[in-house]
Amino acid sequence: MTPSSTAEFATIFEIMRMSTEDGPGIRTTVFFKGCSLHCAWCHNPESISPNPQLQWVGNRCIGCRTCLSVCRENALALTESGMEIDRTRCTGCGDCADACPGTALEIMGKTWDLDDLTAEVLKDQAYFETSKGGITVSGGEPALQSEFAGQFLKALRQRGIHTALDTCGCCRREALDQVLPYSALVLFDMKLMDPVLHKKFTGHDNRRILENLHYVADYMRSHVHPSEMWIRTPLIPRATATRENIGAIGQFIGAHLRNVVSRWELCAFNNLCRDKYLRLGQRWEFEKEELLTLDFVDEMADAAKSSGVDPDMVVPTGSTRLE
Ligand code: SF4
Ligand code: SF4
Repeated sequence: MTPSSTAEFATIFEIMRMSTEDGPGIRTTVFFKGCSLHCAWCHNPESISPNPQLQWVGNRCIGCRTCLSVCRENALALTESGMEIDRTRCTGCGDCADACPGTALEIMGKTWDLDDLTAEVLKDQAYFETSKGGITVSGGEPALQSEFAGQFLKALRQRGIHTALDTCGCCRREALDQVLPYSALVLFDMKLMDPVLHKKFTGHDNRRILENLHYVADYMRSHVHPSEMWIRTPLIPRATATRENIGAIGQFIGAHLRNVVSRWELCAFNNLCRDKYLRLGQRWEFEKEELLTLDFVDEMADAAKSSGVDPDMVVPTGSTRLE
């Protein structure tokens, strides 16, 4: 589903400051709401729907029931097991969140206009300058709100800020054309090479993603910007983290993206998002999954390094557990 967006307004669910994981240096990452994929392991479940969503943070609730009385849709019920939100009734109006004295209710997803969002992220400009960092647009899928994202990136480039586009690649070609000219770096996700498994775990096969990956690579060969591409592969147990899949991704990079990709990140699974699913009242099939061991991540890195890419560009990231 495509979020409502124009060149002037976009739906953003988070602005994360001091990030060191979304490109070089210290960065401010702007998360756009709405995604074209629905990955089973998604670490940002609040990113998938393009619409504002209500969440309840149980340990802040004092049980006053103010929210129940202000909701005109009768969408809330406070039961022994917690707040039940009838999402078929909830319009995301935010009245309950405004009235809650404990800040236990929050609306995920806020409308920003271009000038306000630009001014907000420029508050961090000093960090970008000292760390050679910048701004990353992420999500969700920022290319679903490409008109706004393009204008936002353009405004930052005009101020000399380093910009990065973090994309799953599942978007219209025209959308890429709106954001690529203003992105210094592209962070492109490659999750699974097998189209059947890709559809099983993300809801879509990877045909369009691979076509767009070729398109971005060709675009980079004939334009000054983007000047750099990093591939990112999440290492998900029982899904992406197999020698076969990592080897197949490496063969694709070696065959088609030589001289374009400068870094291939293998991002170790983490389970920090468990609470996010609970707050949204959703089940997560990876909720009992533990962190990967360092030995296992090393094995995946070995599969990547022996797949036909420059071994020096393979970079494992993320936390691991002790044996
Ligand atoms: S208004 Fe807030 S604190 Fe009061 S019952 Fe509702 S969620 Fe809990
Ligand atoms: S966001 Fe609006 S509709 Fe939804 S539960 Fe709160 S008051 Fe009711």
